[in-house]
Amino acid sequence: MPQNLRYKLLLEELRKAFPQPVSDPIHDAYFVYSISSALNKVDALKSQVPILGEPAESLSKEFERATERRVPEQATSPKEVIEKLAKYLEGMIVFGHPRSQVNVIGVSSIPSIVGAMLPTLYNPNLVWDENSQRLALAELEVTAMASALVGYDPGTAGGVFTFGGTGTELYAIRIGLEKALPGSMKEGVREDAVIFASRQSHYCKSSIASWLGLGSRNVVAIPSGRDNAIRMDLLEPAARKHVEAGGKIAGFIATMGTTDAFGLDDLEAMVALRDALVRDYHLAYRPHVHADAVIGWAWSVFNDYDFEGNPLGFRPRTVRALSGASRRISKLALADSLGIDFHKTGFCPYISSLFLSRDRQDLNLLSREPSLMPYLYQFGSYKPGIFTLETSRSGCGPMAALGSLELLGKEGFRALLGHLVEMAEALREQLEGHSATAVLNGENFGTVTLFRAYPGGVDTWTIVEKERSDPSFREKLLAHNEYNRQIYRHVHEEAMAGRGVMISLTENYRHTEYGEPMVALKSFITSPFVNEEGVELVVKNVLEAREKIAGQ
Ligand SMILES: *Cc1c(COP(=O)(O)O)cnc(C)c1O
Repeated sequence: MPQNLRYKLLLEELRKAFPQPVSDPIHDAYFVYSISSALNKVDALKSQVPILGEPAESLSKEFERATERRVPEQATSPKEVIEKLAKYLEGMIVFGHPRSQVNVIGVSSIPSIVGAMLPTLYNPNLVWDENSQRLALAELEVTAMASALVGYDPGTAGGVFTFGGTGTELYAIRIGLEKALPGSMKEGVREDAVIFASRQSHYCKSSIASWLGLGSRNVVAIPSGRDNAIRMDLLEPAARKHVEAGGKIAGFIATMGTTDAFGLDDLEAMVALRDALVRDYHLAYRPHVHADAVIGWAWSVFNDYDFEGNPLGFRPRTVRALSGASRRISKLALADSLGIDFHKTGFCPYISSLFLSRDRQDLNLLSREPSLMPYLYQFGSYKPGIFTLETSRSGCGPMAALGSLELLGKEGFRALLGHLVEMAEALREQLEGHSATAVLNGENFGTVTLFRAYPGGVDTWTIVEKERSDPSFREKLLAHNEYNRQIYRHVHEEAMAGRGVMISLTENYRHTEYGEPMVALKSFITSPFVNEEGVELVVKNVLEAREKIAGQ
């Protein structure tokens, strides 16, 4: 065979590995078959254990061997490749399993999965509408839906999907920085400006401060109260002192649903404080207030729920928890901007994060040439690429979000979130009812429960308070930290053996008043499939673990 034909044969083979540009029913069926064969491979790994296939003892050996991998010399058939790819899911936690209460990781609905998959077929790029067409519409529509949901005016709000909740906060602080230090987009950050947030707020604020050139030392972490909300009585004097000394503020971050405990900051008070600072010190700018609502945003669906009539029929305890959260979440519209993770509490796959700005003009501050380029619709088109940090942006995020929002509607969201909260409340009821366990975040009303178990003879009515505040309890606290790690190991083993529920452990849900980390067992309910049986199993396994430890 002449040399110059070899590639053509290969090309012909390889073309079969692509979706056909013009419909060819036989090949289209082959494509669908390829997807379903991958799904079948993965589905075959499902079981009573909330893990796909066999859990690995440790992956470190495999990780070491990874350095030996090279690009194969020859092409491989799609069938073989798909088989190989499916294997990478072995050992994954099935977060949607009734026996999974691990972390704030979303469980994706089928329309959201299809929504995320469709753009991958045609590669729209949200950088501008020439390259994204109606996928840009999806971004605009989700922006409007989310705006209306939280109480922004969709006519004046703006939004953009970005690379995670971290990205939403980065957009916010960059805008806040431009407000505090006008011209710094161009001239660079030549002056300090601080970020105020609670100690329980997400650590991404520090990465952001570092990456923006502020330095993480410019993050001021204000202690939070027992309710895991920022202590306004400490934030106010700190902010006043800073401003009186001539300092600038790049932003206030109100955490609306902390990662570990679902603490909700008093956003209303924070905005009032910002307004007072502007008034009292005649500031030339309005410090930016961002709500990190990546977890809490979804509770907005209860803003107009009739808690009295309770048409969905939640239990009284659940209604109390939902309305308790709604008190603070219903104030979201007061924030200048907010972050939404559809992949956390929106039943969507990664990555689906929306940065929302109450005033879309604020996004202009990020434009590369603000005087020349209006934010939107230049020549009647959509060019978010003028201000986004990213250049290429995938359509997967907005399409996934649209899939879940359309599927569930407000009522579906209420039913699902309500159920998750109902299960969390059922767990708390049991933990509170037992003398050996104590709930730590009883004042937080989300789907996450932090709790500790104690050995026999400990008075769980008073121990938590003493551990939190009395330095003479340091030794006991540390011993009980270790005790709870042991409990966790037992509960985890049971889950792995198919006899229990996977929960998690946080090494430091918050510091004690004398500065020690407090370990907590953590149940984070995100799966629509979690049921009463799963909740009972958690308690049963924790109590069994106590017996086992006592018998050692
Ligand atoms: C998860 C989380 C973040 C970071 O979001 P990513 O989507 O993981 O980047 C920020 N803030 C809070 C409160 C979070 O829980």
